[in-house]
Amino acid sequence: QQYLNRLRNTEPLLRSFLHVSQNVMSEAEQIDRKIDRNEQLGPLAGVLIGVKDNICTLDMPSTGASRILRNYRPAFDATAVRKLRDCGAIIVGKTNMDEFGMGSTTENSAFQVTANPWNAERVPGGSSGGSAAAVSARQCVASLGSDTGGSVRQPAAFCGVVGMKPTYGRVSRYGLMAYASSLDVIGCFGSSVTDAAILLQAIAGHDRFDATSSKREVPEFTSQLEPAEFLDSKPLKGLRVGVISETLGDGVDSGTVSSIQAAASHFEELGCIVKEVSMPSFSLGLPAYYILASSESSSNLSRYDGIRYGNQIAAEELSSLYGASRANGFGSEVKMRILMGTYALSAGYYDAYYKRAQKVRTLVQKSLKAALTDNDVLISPAAPSPAYRMGEKKNDPLAMYAGDIMTVNVNLAGIPALVLPCGFSEDGPSGLPIGLQIIGAAFDEAKLFKVGHIFE
Ligand code: GLN
Repeated sequence: QQYLNRLRNTEPLLRSFLHVSQNVMSEAEQIDRKIDRNEQLGPLAGVLIGVKDNICTLDMPSTGASRILRNYRPAFDATAVRKLRDCGAIIVGKTNMDEFGMGSTTENSAFQVTANPWNAERVPGGSSGGSAAAVSARQCVASLGSDTGGSVRQPAAFCGVVGMKPTYGRVSRYGLMAYASSLDVIGCFGSSVTDAAILLQAIAGHDRFDATSSKREVPEFTSQLEPAEFLDSKPLKGLRVGVISETLGDGVDSGTVSSIQAAASHFEELGCIVKEVSMPSFSLGLPAYYILASSESSSNLSRYDGIRYGNQIAAEELSSLYGASRANGFGSEVKMRILMGTYALSAGYYDAYYKRAQKVRTLVQKSLKAALTDNDVLISPAAPSPAYRMGEKKNDPLAMYAGDIMTVNVNLAGIPALVLPCGFSEDGPSGLPIGLQIIGAAFDEAKLFKVGHIFE
């Protein structure tokens, strides 16, 4: 009830939810009854979780913040959602996002714009802006997002919460609306590293409904997180931390650079061996990402044809029905991505764009793998600046894309990364939060949680 009251009071300003469940209290009462009967409770019994609107839920609409899916109600729960419910969690509602995950501010939602809880004139980041804002404002305990090129990590940084982007395949994508299938992964938001770890524990693991989900065993994330009072003075003794030098150069806000440098010094105090690592291919990831993500999305989004789901604009001919339904159903950013992707994949341009981008992807993968052999973890800012003003980059897509420079390489390589707050744009909480990104080797989320927990 306390969370629902808070949600009701803050929602007019924040607009982080597209839909709030009607069943929260009745589900909570069921848990009360279980307690009365001394029945076994799941590890997340009664915990209120927000779910990004591109993740399917049986009892609530799931639109991906697109008009083309207005009023769509899936006939099933995404595997991640089902697993949360199996643990006793209560899904509080569906959070706002950029349409189909395409954007970095949540301004590309077809339905509403979400505000940053730290400053309501600023964007919460994106595309999982609603999920980040909801946790930041304590409208729910934790939330799910999706991360194709940074959509969990950048909004976590902008809203001052913890965001975990797991290894590709660690969490089933079954029931996640596909944006770019070779990059998409469901991730977690929490107000602490421990919360994010508990959430990943609940949703991770192989799923027979997703052939790309990994069969690797999921380690016990939380039991490895020692309470602060049990830690000695150099709890990270010997850990090799690489600071990616290209992420602290030109075009990066000075407050962000100094916060990351302060974080590096803090790692030294904790016993780490901190070194600068240069990755010359770092900036190549951004154009490669936008070519690959747009190409994959142009193929994935062809399922929204006005026949199979939602929005249909009637027409005499089938092709005009497709055209009219899509023209009316997709927002302008989505249309631009489909055009860019179709262009990059078309005969005559394929070699120059798509194939070349795939080669860059391999290069980025290799250089990150090498850097993660010489170092246990890599660190960088989660974004080149803190949250900016609403509208500031809305009509300048290239400026907005440039803001993803810190996060996209991690998706190209399929590796995990954790973002956590590490300072403010001005001295003290009157400024805007800044996020530190800690990158690890594939399937090494446990190390990221351990390091993040000690850092925090
Ligand atoms: N901002 C990036 C994009 O628009 C990343 C989005 C995401 O991770 N879903 O593609």
